[in-house]
Amino acid sequence: MDLSLIIPCHNEAGNIHPFAKRVLECMGEADAPQTLELIFVDDGSSDGTFAKVLQLIEGGLSPRISVEGIELSRNFGKEAAMLAGLEHAQGSMVGFIDADLQQDPAISFQMFAYLAAHPQTDCVAAVQEERREGRVLKWFKHRFYKAFNAVGDVELPANASDFRVFRRNVAEALLSMPEYFRFSKGLFAWVGFNTHTIPYTPAERHAGDTSWSFRKLMGYALGGIVSFTTWPLRLILYLGLLTSLISVIYLIVVLFEYLIVGINVPGYPTLVCLILLFFGIVMLALGIFGEYLGRIYIEGKRRPVYIARRTVNQPSDDLRPEERS
Ligand code: UDP
Ligand code: MG
Repeated sequence: MDLSLIIPCHNEAGNIHPFAKRVLECMGEADAPQTLELIFVDDGSSDGTFAKVLQLIEGGLSPRISVEGIELSRNFGKEAAMLAGLEHAQGSMVGFIDADLQQDPAISFQMFAYLAAHPQTDCVAAVQEERREGRVLKWFKHRFYKAFNAVGDVELPANASDFRVFRRNVAEALLSMPEYFRFSKGLFAWVGFNTHTIPYTPAERHAGDTSWSFRKLMGYALGGIVSFTTWPLRLILYLGLLTSLISVIYLIVVLFEYLIVGINVPGYPTLVCLILLFFGIVMLALGIFGEYLGRIYIEGKRRPVYIARRTVNQPSDDLRPEERS
């Protein structure tokens, strides 16, 4: 198998067939692999996405394309769906692509051809040239990359997504990381390898709605930072040092006033403000601790990242319930 394309799908029933049609069109291009594996991972859809995948498997696409469907037992999130696909991918090269046709399979084939022509490169990432999104979201995303790269232990290329094609060695490296909280952008940066970026402009979504809300994106961004750096913990240390230093200085000032100027009773508002300030800092510290502690707790349970209800890769395949981690 030359290339495995992993397609995480959450309520993409209207996109499965158009996606497959587009892949078929692209198979005629010079960049296309000889043999292709499409792995659709149905991430707990409620709109009959998996039935569409089954239709593709029943009908067969082309002798050069094999289709596999993995149905997860519920919605585990895109990252989990990506891992499920990765564990099943057989290709010597592997790629991730969205089901909504915002990302053109022709670009996956270009990335594939680039890897085939450049033995020194292990991974090709498509970077969004122009983002079709609101100004507020753009600003937040920009801040996120800045903040992550300032404090994170690895460097995230701005606007790089998981729209990539990579060699098996990269796939194995990603699989060797069994963590529950998966943040692909960070995982790709963490495993290293020679990565080449190519620009691309995402198209409009073909059908359905994006599953990302602003709240979800914020959570994802914060989770990414907590997953890849313990810098917020150090921030608490610095805050603690700073407040201790300030209180020592203030103590000296008060002592000085007491001894030289006579007793000076500090105002009630000052006390209230200071109590609130330090209480706030303590609560902030507890919150940051809690964020890490919660993650340790959940990672400590060693639960599987996803549960597959069935995996189908042949027409009329029997139900094969299975559980994977
Ligand atoms: N997706 C998924 N599970 C989820 C949310 C999304 O598998 O819980 C899939 C979705 O079906 C799509 C891809 O992840 O193929 C990207 O999602 P979406 O288009 O909603 O994100 P956007 O393009 O807006 O970043
Ligand atoms: Mg999309």
